[in-house]
Amino acid sequence: MRLGIVRTPGEPAPGTGRVAAPGLDWARLGDTLVYWTGDDDLWASARGRAREAGVTVEELPAPAAPRDLHLVTQVGRVFQQEHPDVRVLVDKGRYLVAAIDAERLSGITPREEVCYRVEPLPTGEVVFGAAPAVARTPVAEIQRLVDEVSAEGFGSLLGELVGFGTRHSLSPGFRAAATMAADLLTQHGYIVRTDPVTVGSGQSGNVVAERVVPSRAFRDVVLLTAHLDSVNLSGGPSAPAPGADDNGSGAAGLLEIARVLAGLDARHDIRVILFGGEEQGLFGSTQYVAGLSPRERHRVRAVVNMDMIATLNTAVPTVLLEGAEVSKGLIDDLAAAAGTYTGLAVQTSLRPFNSDHVPFIDASIPAVLTIEGADSANEHVHTEGDTLDHIDHALALGILRMNVATLAAAAGV
Ligand SMILES: [Zn+2]
Repeated sequence: MRLGIVRTPGEPAPGTGRVAAPGLDWARLGDTLVYWTGDDDLWASARGRAREAGVTVEELPAPAAPRDLHLVTQVGRVFQQEHPDVRVLVDKGRYLVAAIDAERLSGITPREEVCYRVEPLPTGEVVFGAAPAVARTPVAEIQRLVDEVSAEGFGSLLGELVGFGTRHSLSPGFRAAATMAADLLTQHGYIVRTDPVTVGSGQSGNVVAERVVPSRAFRDVVLLTAHLDSVNLSGGPSAPAPGADDNGSGAAGLLEIARVLAGLDARHDIRVILFGGEEQGLFGSTQYVAGLSPRERHRVRAVVNMDMIATLNTAVPTVLLEGAEVSKGLIDDLAAAAGTYTGLAVQTSLRPFNSDHVPFIDASIPAVLTIEGADSANEHVHTEGDTLDHIDHALALGILRMNVATLAAAAGV
C-alpha cells in the first residue's frame, strides 16, 4: 500500500481532499491530510494530479496493508509511553496515526476507560480540524463577566488543590478537596450537596452546586463540569498525584467561574459539578447522568466540561472543542465566544473521548469538552510530574473567559 501526507498550515476550514481522487482514502488531522490506498495505479494518478496542482505530497513508509492503519486517541502520551515500539506515522499529540498489524494489536490491552482508544483509521473524516475565526460584537454585560475572571484567583485555587498531594478518588486528599470546594461554593451563595459515587468497592463523590433562584417555573439549566480527582498510574490511592493540569486546572477554573457567575441575573439556572471517579472510568459523571429523570435531562440546555485547560501544546494558545452531532450548536457558540472575547485559536472534533462530556452525549444532552489544543501532548499527565511548573496561566485564562461568555449567553443573560 501507499501512504502520504499533505500539510496545509493555516487553512481555516477543514476541507475535504486536496489531492482528491476517486477511491483514494483520506483523513484530516488538523493541518495534516493523510492519504492512502492499496492500489499503486490509483496512487500514481493521484500523485500526478497533486503535482499539476502544485501540492507537495510527502510519502511515508506505509504498513503492509490499509487495515494496519490505526487512529490512536490518548490522554497525554500514555499510549506512546506504554507502547514505545509502535510506529507512529503522524503525531498530533492527542491523536496519532500508527502502523499496528493484527498481531501487535492483539498485544494491546484496551484501556479506553482510563487512557487511550485504538481504532481503524476512519476514512473520509475530519478527526479534528481548525475552526475559522469568528468574531461577533461583544455584549457589554458578558464582557463585564469575562473581565471579572481572574488569573490570580485561578492560580491560588489551583495551588490549593495541588497542595492536597493527591486527589485520588478514594483518598483522604479527594475528600478534603471536595470539602474545600463545597465550602467555597456555599460561601458564593450556591446550594451545595455531595452525592456518593461508587468506584469499584470504594466510594468517591460528586460536588453539585446550584445557584439559588426564586422560582423554577419554565427554567432550563446550564451545566459547567470538571473532574476533581487526580491519578498517578504507577501508584495506588496514596501515591503523589498533584494533577495540576489533569485536572486541577479544570477544577480550579470551575471554582473561579462559579465565583464570577454567582450573582448573575439570568433566565436559566446555572449548576456546577465537580466529579469524582473520572480517572477510574467516568464513574461520577456516568452515575450523575443515570440519576437524572427524563424531565431533568430535558432541562439541560448545555454542558461545558473542562479537563486539562492549562498546558500549552501548540505554537499559539489553542483550545480543542470536542463534542458530537448533538453538541454542534454549542461548539459553534464556544468558537464564537473564543473569537469575540479571547485570542484563542480553536480546533474542533466530533469524536468524543474519555472525559465527563461522554455520558451526557450518550444521553443525547449537548455537551462539549474544552481542553488545551491537541498538536503536541502533555507528557506529565497521570504521573507525579503533573505539577504547577507546566501550567500556562494565559491559556487557562483564555479558556475560562470563553466558557464564562458561553455559559452566560446560554443561561440567557
Ligand atoms: Zn482528566
